[in-house]
Amino acid sequence: MPKSSRKSLKEINTFWQENCTCELKNTATRAVFGDGNPKAQVVFIGEAPGKKEDETGVPFVGAAGKFLSEMLASIKMSRSDIYITNIVKYRPPNNRDPLPSEKESCKEWLHEELNAIAPKLIVFLGRHSMNHFFPELKISEAHGKLIAQNIPGINTKLFLPLYHPAAALYNGSMREVLIKDFKKILLILKKIEEK
Ligand code: URA
Repeated sequence: MPKSSRKSLKEINTFWQENCTCELKNTATRAVFGDGNPKAQVVFIGEAPGKKEDETGVPFVGAAGKFLSEMLASIKMSRSDIYITNIVKYRPPNNRDPLPSEKESCKEWLHEELNAIAPKLIVFLGRHSMNHFFPELKISEAHGKLIAQNIPGINTKLFLPLYHPAAALYNGSMREVLIKDFKKILLILKKIEEK
């Protein structure tokens, strides 16, 4: 099916599940598709599925996902209000970082997915996700700061980098920063609505 006729998330996922050349296909149990509200105003992008996600086929269902759900509840949102996906759709063995080639082979899939949803805001969970779009930024400096920028091939123009919930889960000071940064999502969405 040509790109121009792949419109729905279902069509996009079906196409890329067959055609994605990611080497991780050989070791992962399955592709982990994005999950949540396809009409969401905000999309969260993580790194890659972990063990639980590989078992269930759903992103962010492990400890990091539970923490994320708690932070969503703290801003009166839930998983059904947002859409969540990963830059890489297959679990890297032993949860190692995805390789540049693995990120590259899942790139078109992610970009089509994002443009099908066309959210007002994209939230990066961690440096891998942020550096996919903004390779020059450091997460320790960029977290919690809204970026307004045109990126060729992406319809969304607002981006918010955050620490990854898995990194912050057991690190007290990072956890506090993430919880504080997370609250900015609500303010940004309110401002967008007012426009
Ligand atoms: N961490 C991620 O980045 N993605 C998941 O789906 C789970 C944990």
